[in-house]
Amino acid sequence: FTTTLLGVLVTLSIIALVLSLVKIEDVALPPTVKYGMVFDAGSSHTSLFVYEWDSDKENDTGVVSQTLSCDVQGPGISSYANNPPKAGDSLRECLDKALKVVPAEKQRDVPAYLGATAGMRLLRLQNSSATDQILAEIAKTMQEYPVAFHGARIITGEEEGAYGWITINYLLESFTKVAHMWVRPEAANIFGALDLGGASTQISFIPKGSVINWNETSRFLLYGYNYNIYTHSYLCYGQNEMLKRLAKELILESSSSTRVEHPCYPKDYNETISLSSFHTSPCTNASDPRLSPSDRNVTLEGRGNASGCLVAIRKLFNFSACGQSQDCTFDGVYQPPISGQFFAFSAFYYNFKFLNLTEGQPLATVRETIERFCARNWEDLSSSYPEENPERLPKYCANANYILTLLLDAYKFNESSWNNIFFQIKAGSADVGWTLGYMLNLTNMIPAEAPARLKGHAP
Ligand code: AMP
Repeated sequence: FTTTLLGVLVTLSIIALVLSLVKIEDVALPPTVKYGMVFDAGSSHTSLFVYEWDSDKENDTGVVSQTLSCDVQGPGISSYANNPPKAGDSLRECLDKALKVVPAEKQRDVPAYLGATAGMRLLRLQNSSATDQILAEIAKTMQEYPVAFHGARIITGEEEGAYGWITINYLLESFTKVAHMWVRPEAANIFGALDLGGASTQISFIPKGSVINWNETSRFLLYGYNYNIYTHSYLCYGQNEMLKRLAKELILESSSSTRVEHPCYPKDYNETISLSSFHTSPCTNASDPRLSPSDRNVTLEGRGNASGCLVAIRKLFNFSACGQSQDCTFDGVYQPPISGQFFAFSAFYYNFKFLNLTEGQPLATVRETIERFCARNWEDLSSSYPEENPERLPKYCANANYILTLLLDAYKFNESSWNNIFFQIKAGSADVGWTLGYMLNLTNMIPAEAPARLKGHAP
């Protein structure tokens, strides 16, 4: 018996010694840099983001940095419905660039994702086999590269909103500040997210009280705390689809069949469109006898009239569907009262940056600046901004008034809460968007538990 006991003790000591050696070795290992990549396949264009982080800090917050961003040449992937292989090919240039920034021996471990947003959601409504083919061609292309391909899919509007919210608060290190400070998430500096794309727009935030409508709630357990965030995505309310819907409404209201006044375009600017372009999107393709023959051309004539523009844009929203309810935006969509500070990025930022309105100007100044800008004629604008993309320049007045309507009339920001909106595109050195949050979530880099260092502080 003694011999057996001795044998067991010796075995146990050897195991303990081996375990401690393994541990020492573990600690002694130098941190290695890891990489991940995500394609944001938007309605109007695709971008690739490559991220990197130290493997030993994986579960901390704010440790991921952006190594590369690459704009894919050409339109969004939903434009390749008639030639899906071209959607795959369009990604090659950025994939090649990405491989240049990741050391060869690490490439096979790089998780690679593609998430498609509202452009593909719209195409799926019209032609779901085309979306399948596009995604299949993209998967084929990405699998040719020596990375760990983890799928190409259409993400939901709610995911898009929630991952944008995670990205911002991860980059600002809000989550671990909550754990450090011993405060409830809603009392901490957690930012809401406002995202405006080409085909959809998203709003995400932690409401003050409890969310009444659980359909609109995403629940996340992050670093030991539960977060119930309200998220809504509005399909057809991205700015390109909004401009198309606006043109359609103006044409339907007009008495002339060929020349139509456009209050939001600059005076002396004309744009000729074919009514057939309305059939390319579910946001505008409902047929109306007033829109025939459907291949007819119509010339939109700019009037540079800010107040007329606001009136026309308001008609794109069904506000009366909310009745007297305050917890409602438009079309009968539930939204609790906005609360806290917000990051407004993507096209919210692009338009306001162009108008020099990203420095925290009060609402009255913003309104004045937009009105003055809308009143400038096309000759003045095109000579004052020779560097600006001539396709974008005539649209800033409409876009800016659209942003005002969405934020003030629909979401119900007011004179005072306006000052809680920060128009920004970066947090630290990373671009703000849904891609980082998506990768963090899929690679389990945000632990449900507070990291060990912080645990003692958490209640
Ligand atoms: P996306 O992210 O592709 O959904 O695009 C969002 C919207 O912003 C689209 O309407 C684009 O046309 C617009 N946009 C993208 N980049 C810029 C930019 N640099 N300046 C102004 N508008 C932009």
